[in-house]
Amino acid sequence: MTIEVRSYVGGEWIDGPEVPDVDPAHPSRVVAVARQASAPDVARAVEAARAAFPSWSALPAGERGRILTRAAEIIEARVEATALEFTREEGKTLAEARGEIRRAASIFRYYAGQTLEPDGEVYPSASPELLLIARREPIGVVGVITPWNFPIAIPAWKIAPALAYGNAVVWKPAEVVPLTSLRLVEALAEAGLPAGTLNMLIGKGSVLGGPLVGAGVDAVTFTGSNATGASIAQLAARSRVKAQLEMGGKNAVVVLADADVAFAADQVARGAFLSAGQKCTATSRVYVERGVYQRFVDELAALARKWRVGDPTDPATAIGPLVSEAQLGTVLERLRVARSEKASFVTGGTDRLAIDDGYYVAPTILTEVPRTSAVLREEVFGPVACVVPVDSLDEGIALANETDYGLSAALFSRDLRAALTFARRVRAGVVKINQETAGLEPHVPFGGMKASSAGGREQGKTARDFFTEWKTVYMAPV
Ligand code: NAD
Repeated sequence: MTIEVRSYVGGEWIDGPEVPDVDPAHPSRVVAVARQASAPDVARAVEAARAAFPSWSALPAGERGRILTRAAEIIEARVEATALEFTREEGKTLAEARGEIRRAASIFRYYAGQTLEPDGEVYPSASPELLLIARREPIGVVGVITPWNFPIAIPAWKIAPALAYGNAVVWKPAEVVPLTSLRLVEALAEAGLPAGTLNMLIGKGSVLGGPLVGAGVDAVTFTGSNATGASIAQLAARSRVKAQLEMGGKNAVVVLADADVAFAADQVARGAFLSAGQKCTATSRVYVERGVYQRFVDELAALARKWRVGDPTDPATAIGPLVSEAQLGTVLERLRVARSEKASFVTGGTDRLAIDDGYYVAPTILTEVPRTSAVLREEVFGPVACVVPVDSLDEGIALANETDYGLSAALFSRDLRAALTFARRVRAGVVKINQETAGLEPHVPFGGMKASSAGGREQGKTARDFFTEWKTVYMAPV
């Protein structure tokens, strides 16, 4: 029987026109049917959240934490079933899907713990008898807009802190991952989240996303492309809505001649090719010191040829399909432009890989890429790495910084001085030494510099800054 995914408003599952949710490895297979919400549903969802907010925010913080802990337990108990649906819907391998679901559970646990952390500060006052405190209060109703590439972890790292700090949520997940989104909502509802505290709207960003920002929410947290982020920023400014935007990356790695080259190649392959390169923190530019350049390219190419591309439900598969036909078209077009600009293809090419009828692209290594080429400047969001020789650490850092983005960067070297210099001078929100650019821990701040982010960091204790606001209280005895 086909699974139907409906929007969730005020604790009710609501109907709408059908759109098939297809398997990117076998697009003729329908994984679920998504019933689309409409603009009036957006207003109803915000109303439901507004109505739920006073009692949710007034609940003892530990009680909110208890519900989040229970949600984490439910998510964990269902890892296998959810992972299979997730893989069929999004195309990530089963191992990656399982890892992401577990990570979502640990994010809920982490923020459950945060509910009992201090939520304010006491200040000395000019008047000795006065008690002067500042405390953090929830903002109110938060709009959450998320992409498809981490369909459960990103929603978790927005929804968990939003709820933990006492806010009500209206969530618009990406349209291509309704089923995984449904499973997250079910876990929270079953954990005892009161009706209206979390609402979910299934449907297109162009139909629901803009209206959500202008529908009377107090804040909006968004992850997605820079183009969408820019339009949300404008709408938010017009509606005087606090906005947090996490956007694209063009993440660079520098490999110095003293690095363990085989290890560096393995880490770069992981960063560039896993999840078919569809990570905001994916490695896309690699600057390698000349002395080890050719060896590095050979090692990376050997991995690109060895790693199995294919059905993501097969445990032997390392790289699954791209998420959709549209994404396949975008990636292949970027590769065609690179070829017309005379980039050299060490592996991969400009055609889709013929595996079943899925949206597959081979892991692609480009060299001889002109410095002005779009493939070196714009996000590809596919399994593509450009490798460029450099003469020094200084040149590597200068080129790593030669981008509008600033999300993640990595250095491979055994030289401590080089590591410290790189960590200080590279303009990225996340810096890794001898580790791939992707892969984050949930209890530390995450976000980018420059065009990658705006409105404050996510995750860890820093999430509190966005999901709460200060109230300063002067208490004088009469
Ligand atoms: P996208 O911008 O197309 O969509 C993201 C979300 O915005 C979806 O829910 C979509 O429906 C919605 N949306 C689309 N148009 C909208 C509009 N006009 N108004 C409001 N909402 C709208 O992005 P995507 O293709 O889903 O995701 C890929 C992008 O996300 C990449 O650029 C990637 O780098 C970025 N990303 C960033 C991070 C990060 O933390 N910095 C993490 C993951 C993904």
